[in-house]
Amino acid sequence: MQTIEQAKNEAGQKAWTKRPLIISGPCSAETEEQVVQTAQRLAATGKVDMLRAGIWKPRTKPGMFEGIGVKGLPWLLQAKKLTGIPTTVEVATGKQVQDALHFDVDVLWIGARTTVNPFSVQEVADALRGVDVPVLIKNPINPDLELWSGAVERVARSGIKQIGLIHRGFSSYGNTEYRNAPMWHLAIEMKRRNPELLLINDPSHICGRRDILMDVAQKAIDLDFDGLMIESHIDPDNAWSDAKQQVTPEKLAEMLGEIKWRHESAEEIEFITALEKLREQINHLDDELIQLLGQRMKIADKIGEYKKNNNVTILQTSRWNQILERAFAKGDALGLSREFITKYFDAVHMESINHQNKIMNS
Ligand code: PEP
Ligand code: MN
Repeated sequence: MQTIEQAKNEAGQKAWTKRPLIISGPCSAETEEQVVQTAQRLAATGKVDMLRAGIWKPRTKPGMFEGIGVKGLPWLLQAKKLTGIPTTVEVATGKQVQDALHFDVDVLWIGARTTVNPFSVQEVADALRGVDVPVLIKNPINPDLELWSGAVERVARSGIKQIGLIHRGFSSYGNTEYRNAPMWHLAIEMKRRNPELLLINDPSHICGRRDILMDVAQKAIDLDFDGLMIESHIDPDNAWSDAKQQVTPEKLAEMLGEIKWRHESAEEIEFITALEKLREQINHLDDELIQLLGQRMKIADKIGEYKKNNNVTILQTSRWNQILERAFAKGDALGLSREFITKYFDAVHMESINHQNKIMNS
């Protein structure tokens, strides 16, 4: 006879090894009906391996919905009993780890706002000592791989064997297209450093909106991520948190159906040449460069307005020399030739001047 404990572990273990691993559920648990119905509708799609729901929500500003708290844990347990889908919740303190485990949560995750803080990560890690539970670790809010690696090390040192990474993008000032810029190269570098760790992509928190979820999910799969965590809600527009980025369970199933799963089996992966993978990485980096150049031109526009209002000429030679000198120094360190830097900055500069001209003559 199997004990409940064993059965529970098996469900979690089975889900953990599934590829692609699909995690979905609401940003926050709100009511029992909402949690159970979301779980049932997700189960009906047959495409979801793990149910997520935020119980404690670290929010940027006070006064926003901060999570239903412990009261929501039995709802998740009920959802699991009804659907057979294992569960995962975010934990940020030792007490939350204990509460989640007490209610048989199968997998724990550490959120981006916790990964940034070594004190909090250590507290969570200490509470995990002697416990056999898989833990997913989201990247920190800021693009700092050492901080992400540090969190992985702290959790590993407390004896946790099953550790996974969730790439949810990075906060960057002035970024408009994404809620959190994906900076794909950082996730790829993290995977290169830790090839044995599961790597999941979280398009919901990268995008912050529905219309580009599919695009980001596809990119992640193209880059050989092991799975996706996408938020879903029975009534997305009226969700208590992250309403703009959530989709219904049925919409999620539609999206998952449209994704091109290029690497369906281990055999297939072998056919993907190293060259192809590198080319994909180059494409994604180029996308990011273009995005950044667009942002640079927007700032040039602002400078144009300022110059116009203050009667300053467009070209200021000393400033331009300063830009080039900075770029030469940085380029030297990265092995970029001065010839390339000059050509590149000439082109960028021309475009910038054209932008400013338009503003000043408007
Ligand atoms: C979440 O998953 O709802 C969440 C709060 O995510 P993150 O920690 O990535 O902001
Ligand atoms: Mn969320």
